[in-house]
Amino acid sequence: MKVVIIGAGYVGLTTGACLAELGHHVLCIDIDEARIAAIKSRKLPVYEPDLENLVARNLDCNRLAFSHAIGSNISDAELVFLAVGTPSRADGDIDLSYVETAARNVAPHLGEQAAVVIKSTVTAGTAKYIRDLIVRIRGDRAIDVASNPEFLREGSAVRDFMKPDRIVIGADRNASQVKLVELYAAFERRGVPVLKTTTINAELIKYAANAFLALKIGFINQVADLCEGAEADVVAVSEGMGLDSRIGRAFLSPGPGYGGSCFPKDTRAFAAIGRRYGQPQSLVETLIGDNELRKTNLADRILEELGNPEGGRVTILGTAFKANTDDMREAAALAIVPKLIEAGVEVRAHDPKARFQASRLLPDVLWYDCPYEASDASDAIVILTEWEDYRRLDLSRLAGAMRGDCLIDYRNLLTSDDVVAHGLHYVSIGRPKAL
Ligand code: NAD
Repeated sequence: MKVVIIGAGYVGLTTGACLAELGHHVLCIDIDEARIAAIKSRKLPVYEPDLENLVARNLDCNRLAFSHAIGSNISDAELVFLAVGTPSRADGDIDLSYVETAARNVAPHLGEQAAVVIKSTVTAGTAKYIRDLIVRIRGDRAIDVASNPEFLREGSAVRDFMKPDRIVIGADRNASQVKLVELYAAFERRGVPVLKTTTINAELIKYAANAFLALKIGFINQVADLCEGAEADVVAVSEGMGLDSRIGRAFLSPGPGYGGSCFPKDTRAFAAIGRRYGQPQSLVETLIGDNELRKTNLADRILEELGNPEGGRVTILGTAFKANTDDMREAAALAIVPKLIEAGVEVRAHDPKARFQASRLLPDVLWYDCPYEASDASDAIVILTEWEDYRRLDLSRLAGAMRGDCLIDYRNLLTSDDVVAHGLHYVSIGRPKAL
């Protein structure tokens, strides 16, 4: 099929490259000219495993193309996806202006056969609203607007897109549903469940699913706190919980609070939808506050471990909001590092992929390419991101580089016995204190 994707960010670029890999002809359009120029010269603007090869392969065989302009180049498309950003507004609801602008831009150029598909995560009722907008601009009712929310995760975006748990097709008319079913036929043949429903259901499925996953994280973080009080081990508790197939093991690892481009924004939007319909989502409202408080509390804990923070030196290992991405949006580091600096601490940092993004957001931090150099004469080391490299740290080298002895592991990557055997004081989350 001929497909156009508006927005070449994490979701748009991954969707475009994967659909091309499946044999469709895809044109990705982004208003950011520098981004498009970089992609064309095979330098991807985001770090995402496997994506670079996929883009290169499909560029080479002419199934994938890129442009920064919308015009007659979209008029033969059967499906036009909107995959632009939907950031949070101050009131928690989302800013729909990027989706609106993209819809206004495509509307005059759509062919009669086209359906617009909203891939961005949008509030309940958006597909209907965007359809009315397009009808007003074009002066005809031919174009349908469907909803096809995306569930991929940064860090495993290509794998998630290619092996989805399910595909949700929200369509209020048969024509757009038929087109989307055809687009994803290869998945359905492989046995991937394809849920066909209305646009408003599809929009709410995305938010309810993300809110539920965020609740799982918030829940295990509170269980971890309880384990600390009770001198229990959250690793064993979460394993015992997760082996119950009704619960499952995913999203049951405690950490420094969820971050990233989705959970914080999507939980706020879900709560805003609840308020709008007079059905407050109190569980999620509480979670949002707790998650922010957790980041502040964990910063305070670092300061307590330092004793006298003024003039202290702390090394942060990992600033990205999670491993395998360079995305810094709402990362725990953005809440924790400024609190340390405010208390007079010198902060040094290392991240295998997020250094460039993070250094712009945390300008007062000293950056290093090597975790051991970053740890030179540090009083404390804090692991904030679960990069595999940090699991395999050479603890002798680390201990030798430091002037203090405190290793704070907010991802529970290491084992207490190992760390203590190297003469270090170990602080982790929800596990019994090292003796
Ligand atoms: P992003 O910020 O990485 O990319 C958005 C892109 O859209 C940018 O490159 C921007 O230049 C472009 N853009 C904005 N307005 C445009 C316009 N009018 N015309 C053309 N291009 C335009 O965002 P993302 O992370 O890819 O997220 C996109 C949407 O998908 C959001 O609604 C997000 O909530 C949702 N989503 C994201 C993820 C994720 O893991 N990132 C997962 C599922 C869903």
